[in-house]
Amino acid sequence: MTKKREDHCSFCGRKESDVPRLFAGMDGFICSDCVETAHSLVLEANGTVRHASLERIDMDKVPRPQAIKEYLDQYIIGQDIAKRQLAVAVYNHYKRLYLGAAADEDGVEIEKSNIIMVGPTGTGKTLLARTIARLLDVPFTIVDATVFTEAGYVGEDVESILSRLLQAADYDLERAERGIVFIDEVDKIARKSDNPSITRDVSGEGVQQAMLKLLEGTIVNVPPKGGRKHPDQDYIHVDTRNILFICGGAFDGIERKIAQRLNTHTVGYNNVRATRHLKPEELVRHIAPQDLKSFGLIPEIIGRLPVLTYLCPLDRSALRNILTEPKNSIIRQYRKLFEMDGVTLEFEPDALEFIVDKAVEFKLGARGLRSIVEKVMAGPMFDVPGSGTDRYTVTRAFCASVLSGEM
Ligand code: ADP
Repeated sequence: MTKKREDHCSFCGRKESDVPRLFAGMDGFICSDCVETAHSLVLEANGTVRHASLERIDMDKVPRPQAIKEYLDQYIIGQDIAKRQLAVAVYNHYKRLYLGAAADEDGVEIEKSNIIMVGPTGTGKTLLARTIARLLDVPFTIVDATVFTEAGYVGEDVESILSRLLQAADYDLERAERGIVFIDEVDKIARKSDNPSITRDVSGEGVQQAMLKLLEGTIVNVPPKGGRKHPDQDYIHVDTRNILFICGGAFDGIERKIAQRLNTHTVGYNNVRATRHLKPEELVRHIAPQDLKSFGLIPEIIGRLPVLTYLCPLDRSALRNILTEPKNSIIRQYRKLFEMDGVTLEFEPDALEFIVDKAVEFKLGARGLRSIVEKVMAGPMFDVPGSGTDRYTVTRAFCASVLSGEM
């Protein structure tokens, strides 16, 4: 008697014993593996691929806001409010990516939490954005808001921003589309007056419209590999919908706008009727979206930057901490350089105080610290390697002599 031929999948041809399950139909069979393949093809055909690509975001691996802040604390001194707000915004950004940009079944659509940071130059805005990008391991690029130009004006094109982001992502489009772009000096494209009827203004509304498109989410055609488009190369279509934009600006004089709104008297500006007295750094804590509008940002832009936070000017003790505390502080960097030559580098506490005094005097904030230390260390960096010393101490007297130009 001939043995009954074993049933097999009519699609892949495998035998029942070789597949997890086999389903019988009218005239044939299908195995569970082929059912799954067919299912994903149907989803793709319906345009529901988002589940396939978004599955890669594992919410369990995304750091919680407190962990993000703890990470930032290792590199950035102070600025607690900005750190907390940024941590929450970034965490929510990932939740949004996880759920998908389209509305969930219950109709709740999470909007993008682009961020705007207001604060004097050299207080850590760029450092914050860069550190977050490093924590999340996403591509990151910095651009100056002045690259946005109205058609007709010479300027770097919007494509070049995305081209740089693509480069940072090693041309992995999917990674680039989830990257972070830091737009510096947004205050420079503010309208010069709150009055919208003002005639043509180069750094004005048209420029802000150009930036708006990018923030809102648009497809930008980027020439491959940044350079000129080759006839037989296709443009790369970059979707900016899921890119997180972090804007920063000094917004000099915004305290006045805040004071006017609060009807408060700021030290130094006597034109506002006094009801309360607040110092400029206290006023900035009360910053609200309407102050950005008074400063000259158009409401559409403000609406696309829902997370508004501020950074405080760095005081003396913050500057002192910046020298030594962060994981890659300036002093630690020099210690490392000397260590490679077998030399232990030390700074007298008084020398550090002197450096901070000079930074305060030059009014360059934390930026000044680096240039001062560079100047102080220029001589020893040249003389010490190979000199046979295994210990070098920077004294206050030495710093004073270098900075007074005596050496
Ligand atoms: P901003 O973007 O606000 O103008 P940056 O973030 O570029 O300023 O800061 C310039 C440099 O000053 C940084 O590279 C960093 O070394 C230092 N710095 C500024 N603020 C801080 C801070 N709060 N903590 C640690 N370092 C800081």
